[in-house]
Amino acid sequence: MSYDNDNIFAKILRSEIPSERVYEDDATLAFMDIMPRADGHVLVIPKGAARNMLDATPEQLAACLVTVQKIAHAQIKAFNADGTTLQQFNEAAGGQEVFHLHYHVLPRHEGIRLRPPGTMEKPELLKEHAEKIRQALS
Ligand code: 5GP
Repeated sequence: MSYDNDNIFAKILRSEIPSERVYEDDATLAFMDIMPRADGHVLVIPKGAARNMLDATPEQLAACLVTVQKIAHAQIKAFNADGTTLQQFNEAAGGQEVFHLHYHVLPRHEGIRLRPPGTMEKPELLKEHAEKIRQALS
């Protein structure tokens, strides 16, 4: 399986389509999931090409996890969360829908289940949640 330069996250990286960015460094980008399964649901991706965990370099994997940890701490602060769920899917059989490596970072509250996938969030609410995370990071 090869990397498709025109996948949606590659377009987000090139700013060809909009996204609500919360953090970036030389190697990674973090932005809001447009169909959040919990308030504050963030996706962390490497800036370089990687289809998923199976073809990623050790450096890409390490850089993503460092950013995941930063985001998780910021979400806990921003949403007063009790914990974090980290999800990562590989190939269609593994549940992957967008074929650029990504980690789902989800703030969790005691006793609250994740919402089902597939419901678009209002852009203004995504913006509000992104701003809370950006502030917690600063
Ligand atoms: P997965 O490949 O891990 O199954 O899921 C891909 C994730 O990307 C889903 O949670 C979906 O809501 C999110 N997603 C799909 N298209 C877009 C998009 O255009 N922008 C953003 N920010 N997220 C997207």
